[in-house]
Amino acid sequence: MEFFQSEYFRKTENGSIKCLLCERGCVLNNNQKGYCGANSNRDGELINLVYGHPVALNIDPIEKKPLYRFLKGTETYSLGTLGCNFKCSWCQNYNISQKHFDDRIPSETVLPDEVVSGAIQADCMSVSYTYNEPAIFYPYAKDIGLIAKENGLKNIFVTNGYQTEGIVCDMKNWVDAVNIDLKSFNREKHLKFTGGELDIVLRNLKAFADSPVHLEVTTLVIPDFNDSEEELSSIAEFILNQLGSDVPWHVSAFHPDYKMTDRNATASEKIFKAVETGKSKGLKYVYPGNIR
Ligand code: SF4
Repeated sequence: MEFFQSEYFRKTENGSIKCLLCERGCVLNNNQKGYCGANSNRDGELINLVYGHPVALNIDPIEKKPLYRFLKGTETYSLGTLGCNFKCSWCQNYNISQKHFDDRIPSETVLPDEVVSGAIQADCMSVSYTYNEPAIFYPYAKDIGLIAKENGLKNIFVTNGYQTEGIVCDMKNWVDAVNIDLKSFNREKHLKFTGGELDIVLRNLKAFADSPVHLEVTTLVIPDFNDSEEELSSIAEFILNQLGSDVPWHVSAFHPDYKMTDRNATASEKIFKAVETGKSKGLKYVYPGNIR
């Protein structure tokens, strides 16, 4: 199943099209796929190749997203597709996000109303768009989300925060909670290791903090990448000063994966130190995560 998404692109002067789902802003010639691999130009229209084709569909505790201050103690119907608009060297879900997937899109289709029925049957109170970056399958997520909303379910985005301003604005109409990764506070490192610009993520964090959408922030603390006291303090100060002291911050332990196998897992002491740092700056809710 493929989905034509007329609202999410514009035609350029030379006959190609520009995708408006995320700030990569891929300009695509006919039959060309975007950076994420999930969107393509088919005869001058943008099509979403993963529409209706989740590759992960699970019932998770909401704390696993992680969201600790939204629908506490409930389960959330969680789905993701192939592809991603970031290329994080440490991706813990690289099997679905980073692998070349021309021949891996499932033939089986799960329509939006079937996702919502599954969530209701499983007694979930929400649907989560997660595992890979949901902005790249936004048309599918939104179609599910609107049906979920009609049925009294909440919608949750677990995201790298790289949506265009137009998509952020649109999300406020139907998304109830977001968890955004803030992966580094250093512009060069952020760009080099994720492929994305830090300032765009910071812009979108502020946009959600200034909206009724519930916001939590996650930082994967990676040895010799972002684990200095200086960098963690800068992140905590940004959350405090720009987002608010009530915004929860999850500091999670890294485990070697994908292309980043040259270092050990984050020591639990380092995570508890980061929690102390966040609290000492004035954040009310700082949580350790992923400690084994
Ligand atoms: S969603 Fe994909 S195709 Fe669209 S701009 Fe982002 S990376 Fe490019």
